[in-house]
Amino acid sequence: MLQGKTALVTGSTSGIGLGIAKALAKQGANIVLNGFGDVEGPKAEIAALGVKVAYHGADMSKANEIEAMMKFAADTFGRVDILVNNAGIQHVAKVEDFPVERWDAIIAINLTSAFHATRLALPAMKAANWGRIINVASIHGLVGSAEKSAYVAAKHGVVGLTKVTALENATTGVTCNAICPGWVLTPLVQKQVDAKAVAMGLSNEEAKKQLLREKEPSMQFTTPEELGELAVFFCSAAGNNVRGVAWNMDGGWTAQ
Ligand code: NAD
Repeated sequence: MLQGKTALVTGSTSGIGLGIAKALAKQGANIVLNGFGDVEGPKAEIAALGVKVAYHGADMSKANEIEAMMKFAADTFGRVDILVNNAGIQHVAKVEDFPVERWDAIIAINLTSAFHATRLALPAMKAANWGRIINVASIHGLVGSAEKSAYVAAKHGVVGLTKVTALENATTGVTCNAICPGWVLTPLVQKQVDAKAVAMGLSNEEAKKQLLREKEPSMQFTTPEELGELAVFFCSAAGNNVRGVAWNMDGGWTAQ
């Protein structure tokens, strides 16, 4: 379905970003990976799906590095057809204790990077009259949770950016939508499981159950594979007129 298209997924060396990159590669899209940590493993996983894969190590908190990454993607594959703004970090503390440096980093990586990548991707998408911008927001783009001020502010911002980008391109073949996962068991959430296990004296398994019980009626983690399939739907012809939605995959979290 996506043969000949190129997808750039930020923060795709791990977790949800890697899951989405793999789902798009399975549909035939060439992939530009980005993110820190192990690069060769994720590159090999994508290449094994029979598509071309490239990697750029831009730090998504830096505008000049995002510009270099977008240029690299265009130089390597001709154009970015699908942009998935996924890179993100978390820090948990009360507002009055929140380290200023962590606030700045979360706003830069979780929100401002999506603005930069989007503004740089749009001209070529509009010229081709086809494009998909998928913002990995969060259920925290729709509701709040204590001790997550920067994350919740950034993710609400991402949902707002999604709506405006969708509206500005509503008469074109370029769509922009947000995905809002509940709990997904990635390294980002495992840290919160570990903290809960220590704070409450629980085993890893009990801490996971406790995390789910507090928010997610299904008592199940959403998987990167499931989120990847939602991204594929946005890229399909059926997604042509899906514009500006914030689509939750959250086990009932926000139905309460
Ligand atoms: P993760 O920690 O597994 O992956 C984060 C990715 O972002 C990694 O590839 C990491 O290298 C990359 N990254 C971090 N800082 C970066 C930077 N400065 N520049 C470039 N890359 C950077 O986390 P995840 O859970 O897969 O999170 C992915 C996205 O999904 C985030 O935006 C997160 O907020 C969102 N999300 C996660 C959950 C969840 O439960 N895990 C729920 C809702 C939303």
